[in-house]
Amino acid sequence: MTILHTEVLVVGSGAGGATTAAALAARGRRVTVVEEGPWVEPDAVEPFSLEEMVAKYRHHGPSAALGAPPIAFAEGRCVGGSTEINSGLWHRLPGELAEEWRHTYRIDGFTAEVLDRHAEQVERAQSVQKVPADAPLSSMLLERGATALGWRSVEFPRVFRYDTAGRGTKQTMARTLIPQAVADGAEVVPETKVLRLERSGDRVTGARCQRRRTDGTIEDLTIRAEHVFVCGGAIQSPALLQRSGIRANIGRGLKLHPTIKVAARFPHTVDHDDVPMHRITEFAPNLTIGGSASRRGHVALALADSTADTADALAHWEDVAVYYAAIRSEGAGRVLAIPGLKAPLVTYRLTEGDVSRLARGLVHLGEVLLAAGATELYPSVTGAGVARRPADLFPWWGAVSRQRTSLMTVHLTSSIRMGEDRARTGADSYGRVWGHRNLRVNDASLVPDAPGVNPQAAIMTIAARNAEHFLEHG
Ligand SMILES: Cc1cc2nc3c(=O)[nH]c(=O)nc-3n(C[C@H](O)[C@H](O)[C@H](O)COP(=O)(O)OP(=O)(O)OC[C@H]3O[C@@H](n4cnc5c(N)ncnc54)[C@H](O)[C@@H]3O)c2cc1C
Repeated sequence: MTILHTEVLVVGSGAGGATTAAALAARGRRVTVVEEGPWVEPDAVEPFSLEEMVAKYRHHGPSAALGAPPIAFAEGRCVGGSTEINSGLWHRLPGELAEEWRHTYRIDGFTAEVLDRHAEQVERAQSVQKVPADAPLSSMLLERGATALGWRSVEFPRVFRYDTAGRGTKQTMARTLIPQAVADGAEVVPETKVLRLERSGDRVTGARCQRRRTDGTIEDLTIRAEHVFVCGGAIQSPALLQRSGIRANIGRGLKLHPTIKVAARFPHTVDHDDVPMHRITEFAPNLTIGGSASRRGHVALALADSTADTADALAHWEDVAVYYAAIRSEGAGRVLAIPGLKAPLVTYRLTEGDVSRLARGLVHLGEVLLAAGATELYPSVTGAGVARRPADLFPWWGAVSRQRTSLMTVHLTSSIRMGEDRARTGADSYGRVWGHRNLRVNDASLVPDAPGVNPQAAIMTIAARNAEHFLEHG
């Protein structure tokens, strides 16, 4: 067995891990980043393609949280984590939510001033900006519908750098913070899964890993470290801690943004190269309306979910785009590592309130798309019927049910939670796992509740804050 030594081991290289590694390496710490997935050159595969799923997604595609209904979700599994497959839409954590969490979970130093300072630094370093030219038509249609109804709509900035011709490049972790950490001396070890952490008393001494060599064979590897940051994301971080025998408040309270879809057909072609940047925030933070990727495959899947006669819409798929309503769920889920199973069991329980909020979201989504000029709407609800005018939306209220609705999410948080309230949290105010002096979590798991907005900004801001605290206080 190979044994490596490092000062700080960072497990996972996504939004949380890359932020941690770059901050620590910049201050001269000896950092090793272990990433289960492969290194994929940033331009090697086309965004939103099947090829991308195979190369960069965990399980080569979606997973599912079991429940009624089950909720499909996706995670990145490559250097850069989910930032490599996401849409790069950026939304700072709303100040009033941060304030609420500070009280509820008793999080020290979680003030607007501190969070804004870190958010500004991350935004400057990562280049967060709006598209310099007009947003794509699929995006403008949302704006058009909102204007017609008198609803608030916002064009979100993105983690993108634009050249003078307006061509954008997403600033993923594999493009920015990971190379920056490496330039500052960090080592990145891809294709290496941490199986469990080794502990002695209240300290973690290292990690037992399996590394896939370039010839495909697997080697056992132990990494000894003085400090460990677990940054595997809201599903994998609690699973790793549980596999390592750490269970108190770990993997409970998982939160997500359940999303219900509509495939909308327009009397003209809609662009399919990018996702819409506009979001309807009239009902935020509990309900937001936006658009997802609408390549041919996405359109076909969304149409199939409606179980209506979709042959004609499919034949004209260039005129169809996929939109969604996402809710801030009051339900919660659980992550459970089961001995002998490679993937953790994920469950999620929607409340009755969530189901009715989803119905409301679906109807509002229908209203805005019809106001935007859509001629046919196919909801992801079995038997709900195709809507061609506002009166057709009425049956959608009753059609949304646990049995007939197809839901998905790409936002997963809160499976460990931070704060001084030990009854509700798995880690302290800065991510240190209770009962362990040198073990920290620094990723989506710490975000104490569903933020109601795209979470990458909150995750990176919190990770930067916690990394600074570690550097200053150990
Ligand atoms: C399709 C999609 C679209 C999205 N769009 C947006 C968006 O537009 N805006 C936004 O704000 N958010 C978006 N998100 C969400 C956002 O990308 C995630 O919330 C964020 O990346 C999570 O950061 P993280 O560090 O917690 O985990 P991740 O970024 O998922 O990184 C975790 C990494 O750890 C690795 N890992 C896990 N366990 C181990 C182990 N045991 N050993 C070694 N490595 C391990 C994983 O392979 C992974 O690479 C999207 C997500 C998806 C999937």
